[in-house]
Amino acid sequence: MTRVPLRPALADLPPYVPGARVPVGAAAFKLSSNENPYPPLPSVVLAISEAAEDVNRYPDMYATELTAAIASSLAVPAESVVTGCGSVAVLGHVLTAVCRPDDEVVMPWRSFEAYPIAITLAGAQGVPVPVGDDGRLDLEAMAAAVTERTRVVLVCTPNNPTGPAVHADELATFLAAVPRDVLVVLDEAYVEFVRDSEAPDGLAVFADHPNVVLLRTFSKAFGLAGLRVGYAVARPRLAAGIRAASTPFGVSHVGQLAALASLRATAELMTRVDAIVAERARLLACLRTQGWAVPDSQANFVWLALGDHSTAFAERSGRAGVLVRPFAGDGVRVSVGEPEATDLLLEVTADWLSR
Ligand SMILES: *Cc1c(COP(=O)(O)O)cnc(C)c1O
Repeated sequence: MTRVPLRPALADLPPYVPGARVPVGAAAFKLSSNENPYPPLPSVVLAISEAAEDVNRYPDMYATELTAAIASSLAVPAESVVTGCGSVAVLGHVLTAVCRPDDEVVMPWRSFEAYPIAITLAGAQGVPVPVGDDGRLDLEAMAAAVTERTRVVLVCTPNNPTGPAVHADELATFLAAVPRDVLVVLDEAYVEFVRDSEAPDGLAVFADHPNVVLLRTFSKAFGLAGLRVGYAVARPRLAAGIRAASTPFGVSHVGQLAALASLRATAELMTRVDAIVAERARLLACLRTQGWAVPDSQANFVWLALGDHSTAFAERSGRAGVLVRPFAGDGVRVSVGEPEATDLLLEVTADWLSR
């Protein structure tokens, strides 16, 4: 039978495995998707319900007001900001804008599972560089992996799922080693949670390096994962290319107004981020007291390097009422959520060690 062929690259595509969801009516804490445990602020819910009245219309294609508000909050020109349907989509647009067939994209691994998928769909070749046992990116090895075929390097900081952020000095050395015509994407999805004094200031790095693009999102610290709003910060010429490669009307009207309302409530939302950071410190300290070796986390999750026991641990934890995210053969990522969720998780981890 003659059939429509699929692109051969699709056969090798690793699936994106979403974090386990709580079944309707069941009681469990969902620490499997790095979501913000806090529901949206009343001011944000109001913006969402008001925006709902206009959904018979297409949204503002360029998200003009939101783009301007993001730009002014970061003190960059509006031409440098490109919004999209979550920063995962924006990453796809960045790669589509710069990668030619078979160009190489150097990426840390294990890192964000969307990377190999986005790279393959852009028609490029991923070049994974192992993350150290301490969960830190090996920027020296990543620089060494750059060849004439390399078009992009992805730097996930803090790294999902291991947690540490890169340090300013190692990033400076790395950027000095990477050719100016290779794009360096700093994926800062968790930047608001970073407290490491040695972490770089992404905006300052962007200001000093025309080949650096920042990726940020409203999904994590701002708590809008369900509305899909992210953005890139790039030099105007690159930003125009990314915009050209973007899905038209990618950010919904509801998403645009919710993100605007969230930006207006930044101070209040950052108080919540501080609470999550404090909870992260408590979780890390208790895990270490129990005897776990946990990498330093600068994000809203922690990493348990359980290796071949990852799936078994996740099952056990799920039965106890805490959904976590296993990466088979590698480790388990646990998002920082409600204090009650931390307490329950700590019971599971203590119990696991006493097996
Ligand atoms: C969650 C996450 C994103 C953002 O995803 P959205 O599409 O904006 O929801 C980007 N990069 C990393 C590393 C992430 O963990």
